[in-house]
Amino acid sequence: MTSPDRTRSKPDNSPRNWNALTVSECFRKHFGTKKLLVATHREPVIYQPSQSEGPSRKSPPKLRYPAGGVSQSLHRLLLQTGGDWISLQNSPGPPTLSISLPGFPASYTLYRLSPKDPSRQEEYQRFSNDLLWPLFHEEPGRVGARPGDFTGYEAVNRLFAEHISRVAKDHGNGVLWIHDYQLSLVAKELRSLLSFPPPPIAFFWHIPWPRQEFLTHLPERRVLLDGLLDYDFLGFQTALYRERFLESVEREFGTDPRISVFPDSVVKGNRRIHVGDYPIGVDPGRFESLSLDQKGQAEARTFLCEQGISPDEVLLISVDRMDYTKGFLKRLQILESLFQTYPEKVGRIRLLQIAPLTRSGHPTYQSYQKKVREAVTTFNERWKTGRWFPVVSIERTVEHRILAPLYRLAAGALVTSTNDGMNLVAKEYLAAQKDEGGTLFLSRYTGAAQGLKEAVLIDPFDPATSAAILDRSLAEPASIRKGRNKILREQISRNNIFQWMGSIVTGIREAEKRGR
Ligand code: UDP
Repeated sequence: MTSPDRTRSKPDNSPRNWNALTVSECFRKHFGTKKLLVATHREPVIYQPSQSEGPSRKSPPKLRYPAGGVSQSLHRLLLQTGGDWISLQNSPGPPTLSISLPGFPASYTLYRLSPKDPSRQEEYQRFSNDLLWPLFHEEPGRVGARPGDFTGYEAVNRLFAEHISRVAKDHGNGVLWIHDYQLSLVAKELRSLLSFPPPPIAFFWHIPWPRQEFLTHLPERRVLLDGLLDYDFLGFQTALYRERFLESVEREFGTDPRISVFPDSVVKGNRRIHVGDYPIGVDPGRFESLSLDQKGQAEARTFLCEQGISPDEVLLISVDRMDYTKGFLKRLQILESLFQTYPEKVGRIRLLQIAPLTRSGHPTYQSYQKKVREAVTTFNERWKTGRWFPVVSIERTVEHRILAPLYRLAAGALVTSTNDGMNLVAKEYLAAQKDEGGTLFLSRYTGAAQGLKEAVLIDPFDPATSAAILDRSLAEPASIRKGRNKILREQISRNNIFQWMGSIVTGIREAEKRGR
């Protein structure tokens, strides 16, 4: 394979003040009045049906917005540009919803798909979450899919494709933007269904791309790779994942005369597929102002008191879905090493672990989550002194309104993922540190660490060294910590979520102009 050319020209990454409005202007500039169509596995809203509020009164149905930076940012983009969104239905309510919000100029239509055959949906979920997820996070030991699950994966991808083609024919959408590992085969199914010429079909792969030796555990890898090459534009979180993807194409299709691999594209037959890296960001301004909001700060203090924590304690914070890729057990090993090596820390530093449960219906997750719970109890028993114990673990979602001031109150954020596409929590923590010197302890196995070179990096597989880094960095003078945060905060301000969307929209247009 040609070695990757890091100096190749990138889409519009010029420093400018990206926000939801400038992204929508960028979209308009490139695609005129045509609308954007987004497809994701999960929907961007949670529908709450009307509820009885007394014998003759009923509250109207409500929409709530789930935690998660990316879907909420795309949601705000569509409220600027208008458009369509297609996903599987995850909450009650009608199959189509019109989504609008006061203060936003446009609305979009959400189409909520439900596969007719529930067993196909189960197969799709198992293939995605019990096979693709562990393999792409390099955890082959966690694979739990069954032979034949691929049939359901293909069927649900086909269902998406059929629906997208109907909407795109009716609305003439300018761009089709599909997301994540659950939907890798949508373009393959879609191509024959769209009218000619089709709009650009873009795809963003949010999770890591693994080393080839892990990909080879996947029997369907060639179908998956070939399916990805039916998109026109492929985005990855980091240069490393992009390079590994290109290497996988080379390794699997090196002798196929239809396919040639280049540093920033792949040619398949008569089509060129743009392949780029676009590290996802957060909305730093929003986190900064939430972290400074007085009402939110008061709520965060009350929240801490309810957990038996004094807001004046030295606190570390971790915020992760309770997924095995987030390194919950490794985190405890780091704290174990910290307390053993630096006993003066016992009783003086506490971890607040916000760990909403995820995929709890899956046996792999049930047993992992049980293990984490037991490990936290054992750890607390071992290190408690009087009424003090070291880990406060909360298994529910905490809203950004409270999370942002908690980030600000914490002396450090402990990110211990063993493999993580990006890790937005790391960037949110930095965004909340205006003029503050809280330290981000960032696992070197996150996509975020590939961009935030000045961050204090830890290695969850090396608890002793990580504990020493914690001990040293927490004792650094405030001037050093603030100086480091200034550099890191500039980076996350430049590479924010709107810059991510803007550079992808521009990249799709440029790839289209270069010819497909
Ligand atoms: N999150 C939240 N409340 C919680 C836990 C998580 O709002 O109680 C949000 C968090 O702020 C972040 C997202 O969920 O925006 C998690 O993103 P990340 O990239 O860190 O991890 P992922 O869950 O996507 O693997």
